[in-house]
Amino acid sequence: MTGDDELNLLNYISGKFIEPDTGEWLEDFSPATGEVIALVPKSGQNDINMAVDAAKKALPSWSSLTNIDRANWLDKIADKLETKYEEIARLESKDTGKPISLAREVDAYRSVKNFRFFAEMIRNLDIEIFDMEDATNRVIYKPVGVGALITPWNLPLYLLSWKVAPAIGMGNTVVCKPSEMTPLTADLLMKTVDEIGLPKGVVNLVHGDGMGAGSPLVSHENVSLVSFTGGTSTGSIVAKSAASSFKKLSLELGGKNASIIFDDCDLENTVKGVVRSGFLNQGQVCLCGSRILVQEKIYEEFVEKFISEVESMKIGDPSDENTKLGALISPQHLSKIEEYIEIAKEEGGTILTGGYPNLSKEYENGNWISPTVIADLDVNSRCSTEEIFGPVVTIHKFTNEKEAIEIANNTRYGLAGSIWTNDLEKGNRVAESIHTGMIWINTWLHRDLRVPFGGVKDSGVGREGGRWSLSFFSEAMNICTKHK
Ligand code: NAD
Repeated sequence: MTGDDELNLLNYISGKFIEPDTGEWLEDFSPATGEVIALVPKSGQNDINMAVDAAKKALPSWSSLTNIDRANWLDKIADKLETKYEEIARLESKDTGKPISLAREVDAYRSVKNFRFFAEMIRNLDIEIFDMEDATNRVIYKPVGVGALITPWNLPLYLLSWKVAPAIGMGNTVVCKPSEMTPLTADLLMKTVDEIGLPKGVVNLVHGDGMGAGSPLVSHENVSLVSFTGGTSTGSIVAKSAASSFKKLSLELGGKNASIIFDDCDLENTVKGVVRSGFLNQGQVCLCGSRILVQEKIYEEFVEKFISEVESMKIGDPSDENTKLGALISPQHLSKIEEYIEIAKEEGGTILTGGYPNLSKEYENGNWISPTVIADLDVNSRCSTEEIFGPVVTIHKFTNEKEAIEIANNTRYGLAGSIWTNDLEKGNRVAESIHTGMIWINTWLHRDLRVPFGGVKDSGVGREGGRWSLSFFSEAMNICTKHK
């Protein structure tokens, strides 16, 4: 243990902060400096058993509350979180290495908004009635049971709150398992629910790694639903484990999204939008556009403007308000990115910009790399088809609509994408031919929380967002009454 109480995180089970039964701890490192910033419980089967038992015990009374009562609890969580807005941003920036401005605008903002949004939806949830000539059908939504909520490191509280709010709002109780690499804001959320006096056992949290804590949580016999966001290979293991006991399952997995730029686009806005989509959060967003397809007529002009915009981004100290790019999550992740850049060179790619930033001594043990743009790769190359999940994009030329669609679909992933054109009819036509769950036209990551979110192919199974979340986190039941 570090000896500093603030840095020793604890599990949160049945309304109590407790040490792991294993007595073991993991180190949580600052991506920017490499320093240890917290010790995290390395929990095991017993910790998971205790948390699932607590959630199961809390289920009858929590699920018997009205939707309005539960919506009021979600609003209370939002109100309390809002008072910690700056703290969320500071902790998230420290734990993930992302710029503070991004942590504020995206992570802190969305975490509060997720609770408010689902409170409003659940408060206004109507019972559906389907009248027949001689009978009336009444569809009600019942909780599924105990939910396992497993989240990755790139958007820690943003994604956890996206699951917790609809899950408990619909009457389930939950056990959360955040990424062992970014546990700080999950801990803050537990302190928040504790401070507002949420009934004990409704939200529980077990820290730890995938094998020790994630795996026994997914396979636990009393867990009825699993909402998992993370990598595709982990998702496949989770799916196998959940399927054998027929758990309700939602998988939000990896992506290799294309940005398709037609020669009739508004070039200035497109360059800005595509730089943002390629490099937001150091390219560590599942929706990032890491394959940039440019129509041949504007290829040279686009590339020149794009590189100039990429090179103008300030990289370094995540706590500096002007920083646009921070550090990568871990040394292992940095090595993976470096390997892909080497593979790109072997595959015949030309590195148009990249390398390492020149930073002060304080950051010499952090995980840093400059935004990297690679041209001249074959569209079938590994770097053009596999998820790299870092500040690396590949640029490709296309001649016509048909070819752009073929390249965009030339990957095992199918999460998102963007299309840039002033011809909206063409934009919509092309969008419908792309095999993904989501496409933006002349924008990117323009989020309306009411719309479905999720992917096809190896990017996942199921949809969350708006009524799709409410449907996933509940069981619809039809009650048919015959008229006299
Ligand atoms: P990961 O799959 O390594 O880990 C995700 C979570 O799963 C972590 O909490 C981890 O501890 C846990 N885990 C690991 N093994 C497990 C197992 N066997 N059983 C249960 N849980 C286990 O992913 P990551 O590296 O944290 O995140 C990056 C990946 O997440 C990228 O592929 C990215 O595209 C994806 N992602 C997808 C979305 C989306 O909405 N589609 C959003 C964000 C990130």
